[in-house]
Amino acid sequence: MSITSKSAVAKGDRTFIIAQVNLSDPQEDEVLIKIKAAGLCHTDYDSLNWGKPLVMGHEGAGIVEKIGSAVQALKVGDQVILNWATPCMHCFQCQEGNQHICENNSPVVAGANGHTPGHAKLESSQWNGKSIERSFNLGTLSEYALVKEAAVVKVDEPELNFSAASIVSCGVMTGFGSVVNAAKLEAGSSAVVLGCGGVGLNVINACKISGAAKIIAVDISPTKLELARKFGATDTILADKEDIGLLSAAN
Ligand SMILES: [Zn+2]
Ligand SMILES: [Zn+2]
Repeated sequence: MSITSKSAVAKGDRTFIIAQVNLSDPQEDEVLIKIKAAGLCHTDYDSLNWGKPLVMGHEGAGIVEKIGSAVQALKVGDQVILNWATPCMHCFQCQEGNQHICENNSPVVAGANGHTPGHAKLESSQWNGKSIERSFNLGTLSEYALVKEAAVVKVDEPELNFSAASIVSCGVMTGFGSVVNAAKLEAGSSAVVLGCGGVGLNVINACKISGAAKIIAVDISPTKLELARKFGATDTILADKEDIGLLSAAN
């Protein structure tokens, strides 16, 4: 039995509409999620230019509504965060434990070569009587999302804040991962963060968690610098004007 879901649908011509999409029952390794909150990221704007219809949204949190026959780690009612870097679990890198660089489903190529990555069965979502893709195989700007079990992270939190949870897998991880996994910031060191939007604020937060002694936030918006202080910046620089001295020195 299929379910109807009100969704933001990119039409493939740089516009989007709110439309009804039909989702079929979960395949054996799929899960149907009732979306409670979804994030909006610049990539969603970008996805309007991918030249094909798709259900928008790749940041989301919700509740498991239905599970496929082979799903064991989840049950109906579980609170979950959706993860767009869905590993295939079969390739060499996945087998080695490097699911973040899965050979079959590298999320970084999404959009760049005109397709969302992965192995979703296209017939599982329909719009206007035709199969429709979901952004990053999720499609979170929708009442329901049909996703792979591997795209779901269960959260054992009694009163989960779904709005906050919905951005954990994209904006928060991009900032936190940059500091902890890429820069490997050491306690006591200093950091400068250029730009204090969603990702930048989470960079600042991760610097604080990592024990940075000095965290200098730079932005052109005083409001964002206020937020930066809340997230842990020790110093702020408002860079809303050209630095004439610096420019003439460079000349
Ligand atoms: Zn995102
Ligand atoms: Zn893989």
